[in-house]
Amino acid sequence: MRYDLRELKRNGGHDTVPFTIADFNAYSDIETDFSPVFPIEAVAEFSETGDTVLLKVSFEADVVLKCDRCLGEFKKHIVSEENYAVGDGDSAESVSAENGSVDLDQLVWEAVCLAIPYQHICGDDCKGISQ
Ligand SMILES: [Zn+2]
Repeated sequence: MRYDLRELKRNGGHDTVPFTIADFNAYSDIETDFSPVFPIEAVAEFSETGDTVLLKVSFEADVVLKCDRCLGEFKKHIVSEENYAVGDGDSAESVSAENGSVDLDQLVWEAVCLAIPYQHICGDDCKGISQ
């Protein structure tokens, strides 16, 4: 969902917004090796201090991965909490507000992508495909 920053003004500079993500279909063109378990429940917290709008997005999600060793599917639990500054900056921590609104789904999508480890191993005791 998109959050309209005018809402923040109306709420006196602070707003807590729970939101649910039913799918990542908007990103289906991007090839990934993971499948999130939907729906994902997330919370966005906006707070305005001076000229800066700070945003914290937190969520927990299960993601189905395929083990690199035994090729079995397993679930990884992700707990994510990311802080951003809303503005026009290009730094990694800043998010842009297009037409005065922030794309919260996109932030969760990016956080899920970042949380996926490079190697997918189902567990320390994985014996691989020959067992
Ligand atoms: Zn395995």
